[in-house]
Amino acid sequence: KAKTHARGEYVFFTRDMATEIRERSKLLQALRVAIERQRLFLCYQPQIALATGQVIGVEALLRWRTEDGRLIEPSRFIPIAEHSGMIVGIGDWVLRMSCFQQAELSRHGYKNLSMAINVSVGQFRHPRFLASLQGALADSGVDPRLIELEITESMAMEEADLLAKVLDSIKALGVRIAVDDFGTGFSSLSYLQRLQVDRLKIDRAFVAEICKSERGRRIPEVVIQLGHKLGLTVMAEGVEEKEQADLLLELGCEDAQGFHYARPMEPQQLIDWLRSYAARNATTT
Ligand code: C2E
Ligand code: MG
Ligand code: MG
Ligand code: MG
Repeated sequence: KAKTHARGEYVFFTRDMATEIRERSKLLQALRVAIERQRLFLCYQPQIALATGQVIGVEALLRWRTEDGRLIEPSRFIPIAEHSGMIVGIGDWVLRMSCFQQAELSRHGYKNLSMAINVSVGQFRHPRFLASLQGALADSGVDPRLIELEITESMAMEEADLLAKVLDSIKALGVRIAVDDFGTGFSSLSYLQRLQVDRLKIDRAFVAEICKSERGRRIPEVVIQLGHKLGLTVMAEGVEEKEQADLLLELGCEDAQGFHYARPMEPQQLIDWLRSYAARNATTT
């Protein structure tokens, strides 16, 4: 089996399971050290209202910079953090950092930007999750209505009982909920009926197909209609081209996020970007 790497070369996996396990435990050990040395940091990716072009919020995305300056992707280390239970500590840190970052944005005059935060199921299972969330909200002074927790669709499906309980308490704080990667686990919609969510995020795999064929636009179209029927707003992930944004707007999609607008950025870079984007947007609308 071949896997394409970022630089385009192919790596062939002929390794046995023992090697696989050794690699995982090495990565886990490295992650422990990285946390100790504060090598994890957050980047923020803008989210845009399609109709007006205005920035409505940002999503916090975790990064790990190794000692020699390489970046390790969350898709590589989040599963390990989840499996080992380290996600609870990491997730608490992410919650606090992003709440404080929202407060910082407010101080810079960006008072209404929401902050989307990814959460893993392991965090929800932990009995102190609500207390951590409340602590992060209270200590940062952020308006809870600006905080949006993202749960993945597979998590919503597999853990509907657990989530039904926790989400009620979370919603009572005023915090909003989005279903991330929507469409990738499309086998049961019953959880949507049970869980109080506010937003669906169409997975970028569907957005990538949207301009390619009539067929490719059917799923996003149906997801948008489904979302609206349920009273939810819909955001498209992974918008890389203007044509995709135009079509999504035409299909009634409210919001979008993707490289077409901006990549995830570190805080200072984000603030610079927000400034120049506002200037650009003011001249074009
Ligand atoms: P996600 O929450 O669905 O985040 C969107 C991912 O798509 C991000 O990848 C983002 O960089 C990438 N992306 C955004 N726009 C585009 C685009 O136009 N084209 C393409 N090709 N990609 C785009 P990233 O940062 O590598 O994160 C991957 C996943 O890791 C996230 O998917 C999320 O599930 C997870 N993750 C990231 N940070 C955290 C965290 O703090 N906690 C938890 N539990 N999970 C996290
Ligand atoms: Mg997300
Ligand atoms: Mg997603
Ligand atoms: Mg994803």
